[in-house]
Amino acid sequence: MDTVSQAQRHKNMAAIRSKNTKPEMIVRRFLFSRGFRYRLYHKRLPGHPDIVMRKYRTCIFVNGCFWHGHEGCSAFRMPKTNTEFWEKKITRNQCRDKQDLVALAALGWHCITIWECQLKPQTRLSTLTSLEYTLNAIYLRDHSVAYPTLEEESTLERAAEQETKGYPEQNK
Ligand SMILES: [Zn+2]
Repeated sequence: MDTVSQAQRHKNMAAIRSKNTKPEMIVRRFLFSRGFRYRLYHKRLPGHPDIVMRKYRTCIFVNGCFWHGHEGCSAFRMPKTNTEFWEKKITRNQCRDKQDLVALAALGWHCITIWECQLKPQTRLSTLTSLEYTLNAIYLRDHSVAYPTLEEESTLERAAEQETKGYPEQNK
């Protein structure tokens, strides 16, 4: 019995990007309800992004705070036992995540990372609203032929900043 559960545990640990997690479903349902269409776990793209939106040339990663080592997050605490093992494992995940983002950017994809803690009930709405805003800003920027006015430019820069920071922030 213990062997089975241990084997299962190892399997769970191996699947860093597990599919159809609750936070991911929250994002998917929101996007769908707002008319966005997407593909899931694109196998040929680095990191097999959770959500791929071709029209927006955007990949969305919905990251669990523990597995992906969300820095400075209260939901991410290094376990007290086996600390060295976990530190190594999570650092490796963080490195891989970074590499995937760099590779995707090199292929011309925008990347948005949403953390599990940003989808908790009290922050969910602002996270999702800001995601929608960012997607629209990306689309406008990619499809705009005219030179932006100064005001638009600062809006676009703000959206770009949010992208580089890796996750959308609350809109002011
Ligand atoms: Zn977090």
